[in-house]
Amino acid sequence: MKGYAMLRIGETGWIEKDRPTCGPDDAIIQPLALSPCTSDIHTVWEGALGERENLILGHEGCGVVVEVGSNVKDFKKGDRIMVAAITPDWQSVAAQSGYPMHSGGMLGGWKFSNFKDGVFGEYFHVNDADGNLALLPDEISPAEACMLSDMVPTGFHGVELADVQFGDTVLVIGIGPVGLMAVAGAHLRGASRIICVGTRPNCIEVAKEYGGTDFISYKDGDIADQVLDMTKGKGVDKVILAGGGVETFEPAIKALKPGGTLGNVNYLGEGTYINIPRVEWGVGMGHKKIVGGLMPGGRARLEKLSALVANGRVDVSLMLTHRFEGFEKVEDALMLMKDKPKDLIKPVVVL
Ligand code: NAD
Ligand code: ZN
Repeated sequence: MKGYAMLRIGETGWIEKDRPTCGPDDAIIQPLALSPCTSDIHTVWEGALGERENLILGHEGCGVVVEVGSNVKDFKKGDRIMVAAITPDWQSVAAQSGYPMHSGGMLGGWKFSNFKDGVFGEYFHVNDADGNLALLPDEISPAEACMLSDMVPTGFHGVELADVQFGDTVLVIGIGPVGLMAVAGAHLRGASRIICVGTRPNCIEVAKEYGGTDFISYKDGDIADQVLDMTKGKGVDKVILAGGGVETFEPAIKALKPGGTLGNVNYLGEGTYINIPRVEWGVGMGHKKIVGGLMPGGRARLEKLSALVANGRVDVSLMLTHRFEGFEKVEDALMLMKDKPKDLIKPVVVL
């Protein structure tokens, strides 16, 4: 079969590989739609995971089941399915302890285009099919379903990590697609005010649709100063980090009220340490919590999050700015993600 792969750090191309084989708990999927991710760019061009040779890229997609293993109970050939970017081993101790995304070691639930071939192939393999697949509802198009692989669960996990409650003032730093879903999730959770940090006009427009109430640019000066100004010096209850680098922690902690929580879902690609400002962290006694997490995968979560989309509570189509037709267009879509034109939020390839 054909797949679009990372050949080595900094280089991608089409390769031929054997079709993946199906173990007793697994499924083999033929894609219906695929979407590249910022993480694919980090993986190839920043070497985020280290060297990988001839590894098929991609972890966002949906498809049709072509084969299931003998232990798989709830899915069969021909089912249209969704799958998350993170595919844990649900029988692991980590999963039983509430951290499925770390099954097999820290971040070990991230298998696609990390420890095994990703979804940008004519076929792809899903481990633990009963735990990791979910049926694709009729109300959701394949293009939209791609957003349920990573953007929705990650943005919403930021909201969970920050523990957003009714009436909270929430600061979302970075409003690419993950940050946009954090805005949508914070809105659904009842935030009273959602302050968004971002500069791209179309992201700001879409963030407004998702419930963003205030907008500031990190290019207009210190984020914390701007947030403290607009909150009369009080700061915010919760912060969600979905863009920038380690430098965002300092303004985030400064902007956070005592007792507040910072939820990070951002990939921190550079720097040895994260700088937590001592005084604004209450000289160690400010009750300002800092949590960061890889999104949990899994069928239960996919079923719940997709119900929000199927019932019109979240319109993921607002993020789909660029559409391609045909498997071979995966390459163009990935290159678009790399070049990141100003009007891009997410590209999607429909097969
Ligand atoms: P993205 O690159 O499209 O969006 C990030 C946004 O942050 C961009 O719009 C960028 O302009 C903006 N930004 C850059 N510097 C900033 C700063 N200093 N302050 C505010 N905004 C700034 O990426 P995305 O697809 O939205 O993903 C966001 C992050 O989440 C990435 O790092 C990605 O790797 C990570 N991610 C994490 C998980 C997880 O499970 N935790 C899953 C998927 C993606
Ligand atoms: Zn992704």
